[in-house]
Amino acid sequence: MKYDTSRIETILETLVEKLPALLANELDEVNVHYLFGLHQTERSFARCCRRPVRLEVAVELNDERRCVIRGVIAHELAHALVLLGAVNPPDDWRDIEVIERHADAVAETLFGEKLFYDNRGVQCMGKGARGRRPRPEGLR
Ligand SMILES: [Zn+2]
Repeated sequence: MKYDTSRIETILETLVEKLPALLANELDEVNVHYLFGLHQTERSFARCCRRPVRLEVAVELNDERRCVIRGVIAHELAHALVLLGAVNPPDDWRDIEVIERHADAVAETLFGEKLFYDNRGVQCMGKGARGRRPRPEGLR
């Protein structure tokens, strides 16, 4: 099946270019897998997995607004850098809310922009981004 992930790839490259070289180098070993079937709820566009650290991204993300692609990818890149041990870890690995808000804080610090959650609970960042922040509790 033919699909287009070009918008996601461009935005991913733009974000990685904003990182200090040491962190960008860490991400060299992180593969991005574009998947069908991941977009099962209205907010499930991507996830970061471990062993090996990798990003899984729903192909449907490519059709979203630019600020949504940017927000989702920035958040997942932050997770990846945390899992790689390239940035400070969250205070509590057992608390999903702590882990998620920590990833947002890392993303905001590294990319220098605020992360918002739109009315579906999806991250957005950059021009046109608005919504709730910090991350609403209980999002899964
Ligand atoms: Zn997350």
